[in-house]
Amino acid sequence: MLTTILFNPEIEHYDFGPGHAFRGERFASFRRMYQETLAHNPHFQWASHDESATDEELGLWHTQDYINMLRAASLAEDDEDSSVPEFAALFGCGPKTGPSRQSLSVYVSRDNLNPLTGRLPEGIENAARAIVKNSMLAVDYVLQGKTDKAVGLGGGLHHAKANYGEGFCIYNDVVIAARYAMKAYGLERILILDTDAHAGNGTCEAFYNDPGILFIDVHQTGIYPGTGLIEETGAGKGKGFTVNIPLKSGSGDAEYERIFDEIIFPLAREFRPRLIIRNGGSDPHFADNLTGLGLTLAGFWMIGDKVRRLSDELCRGKCVDLICSGYNPDVLAGAWISLIAGLSGIKVELKEPVPRIAADEPAEIADIIYEVRKVIKPYWKCLG
Ligand SMILES: [Zn+2]
Repeated sequence: MLTTILFNPEIEHYDFGPGHAFRGERFASFRRMYQETLAHNPHFQWASHDESATDEELGLWHTQDYINMLRAASLAEDDEDSSVPEFAALFGCGPKTGPSRQSLSVYVSRDNLNPLTGRLPEGIENAARAIVKNSMLAVDYVLQGKTDKAVGLGGGLHHAKANYGEGFCIYNDVVIAARYAMKAYGLERILILDTDAHAGNGTCEAFYNDPGILFIDVHQTGIYPGTGLIEETGAGKGKGFTVNIPLKSGSGDAEYERIFDEIIFPLAREFRPRLIIRNGGSDPHFADNLTGLGLTLAGFWMIGDKVRRLSDELCRGKCVDLICSGYNPDVLAGAWISLIAGLSGIKVELKEPVPRIAADEPAEIADIIYEVRKVIKPYWKCLG
């Protein structure tokens, strides 16, 4: 059993700058802990490369207008002259051709801008391209049999829409990787399991009508982006293939375990995916600074372990893991390592870096599971 960590050094420039919750130093912090914990284990290999996604590859989900605008905005050296007309920005006239703030706001939300300058951070578009290609290469590695499990570092930018970037996400590598796997390898069914603390609104939108993707999204209710209600179950031919599991704050290891056993395993067995793509980093940890869920490091390991068992049982072990989120630098690396170790079936000894404060409130997980199963029951024999 071999797990390959894919990495393009360019992704370290995926950084929204001082004062922003998403900084690029997360990757160095992860690499340090990886060296200390897993690097010397023969079941792991680190694969560096310098490839980036092309416009055509980004076009598997994003519009060319959006790609052009983001590229121009991220290349511009400064945008003091915010009166630059939109056409000049789009067609690259003049030495400082950054799109005006006004025209840029049509394409990106404020939380995707540097908080100090109000601009898209320089070079971030390039870094986002590198992340997309990294996730696509993870698919290649797994489907070409070069590895059993592949981890795409920096991947899981699940909030990006076809022509709008939000929630720290520029290009949606989850959507592109899945579409790429379908197109290049002819896969008919892929399970996307989103365990990030936030609902994956971009991914959800992309596959809402698509019965080839079973999209299961476990997230905290009542926080950004506000979507991911139990009642959102897909549309048209995709009805029943979107499954949202919104958790109350404080939900932790025990709640996640029940969700796997009572919802994810039965649905996945009936769906019979050819590939599993899981995404989400450390933000469901109890000490995350932006969210209120309750996973411990042992819980992250358990998630990795469940995904490994699921893929071993259903799709000859084929699994791609996309990891980038996390908003407490003290717990981020440990949670990422735990996910990867669990995915690989390797024990790691990590101590919780911060003490646990009691959970906010009882999680009422039985009610949530009951509701989810009731709403999607018409589409799934296993729940009948
Ligand atoms: Zn998140």
